[in-house]
Amino acid sequence: MKKISGRKISQKIIEIIANKNKKLSIAALYAGNDPSMLSYIKSKKKRSINAGIELIIVNMPENVEAEDFYKKLRELNNDNGINGIIVEKPLPSQLDIRTVAGIIDHKKDIDCLSYSNNGRLISDEFIIAPSTAMAVINILKYENIEIKGKHIVIIGRSEIVGKPLLLLLTSKKLNNHATVTLCHSRTEKLEKYTKNADIIVAAIGKANFLKNTYIGENKPILIDVGINYDNGKICGDIDPECYERSSFYTPVPGGVGPVTVATLFENLIKLNEKYD
Ligand code: NAD
Repeated sequence: MKKISGRKISQKIIEIIANKNKKLSIAALYAGNDPSMLSYIKSKKKRSINAGIELIIVNMPENVEAEDFYKKLRELNNDNGINGIIVEKPLPSQLDIRTVAGIIDHKKDIDCLSYSNNGRLISDEFIIAPSTAMAVINILKYENIEIKGKHIVIIGRSEIVGKPLLLLLTSKKLNNHATVTLCHSRTEKLEKYTKNADIIVAAIGKANFLKNTYIGENKPILIDVGINYDNGKICGDIDPECYERSSFYTPVPGGVGPVTVATLFENLIKLNEKYD
């Protein structure tokens, strides 16, 4: 079994971006001070410096009026000094992610929230994809893992991971021709699918959910998207006991997370190159 270093892959992507020397800016808009959101913003800030990208933090109070938040988002849309916008989650209850998705300018929408950017995924004419889903593709690509012909089981059908990843793994544009099984909370006998997988992607959000008993004898590749806390300690969706039954695995921390941030910056470059 080989441990995949997401940090190394992230560094390689960030180096490529830094070498482009584009001098671009991202605004990270958020309300409140959720600790996991703040730690994610901190990690983006640190890596943005290495990528030569300016990350501008726009913080509004937790109890901000919805109209004021949306007004700020429109201002960022119209600000020529801002090339990309991220609306950080979780949003407080008075704010609505669908409204945000409708307002954000698709040319600056580096998190792929807008209907326009997401719709392009279905028709395989996409410019960008949600960064976590694309990070999984980047990991497989950087590790020279063939996707074509593989049976890939994704666990989790969220809009930011499972669903877009299904489209990316079967994308003709990317020359990815996997056969994908998309599992979720109502899937019966999950192990029936995972035991036959060449690659398992776990995006569930439950600490150490996937155990040895879910893994077949064929040494699958394990990609762990989950970020959870178990007794205050960060962990993934895949129990480390599974690693020895795999051929490759991504650890948590240091796996998908850092690649997601680098992929977000890659999205900024792609949108800029398309629309500038
Ligand atoms: P989500 O809550 O939107 O979706 C979770 C999915 O898991 C759902 O589709 C649900 O059907 C499925 N699920 C829940 N229980 C299940 C079960 N018992 N069996 C099978 N499927 C089950 O979550 P999300 O936003 O997709 O995030 C998933 C995880 O990935 C979280 O831990 C999140 O923190 C993490 N995450 C990591 C990154 C990163 O950069 N590494 C980015 C985004 C999210």
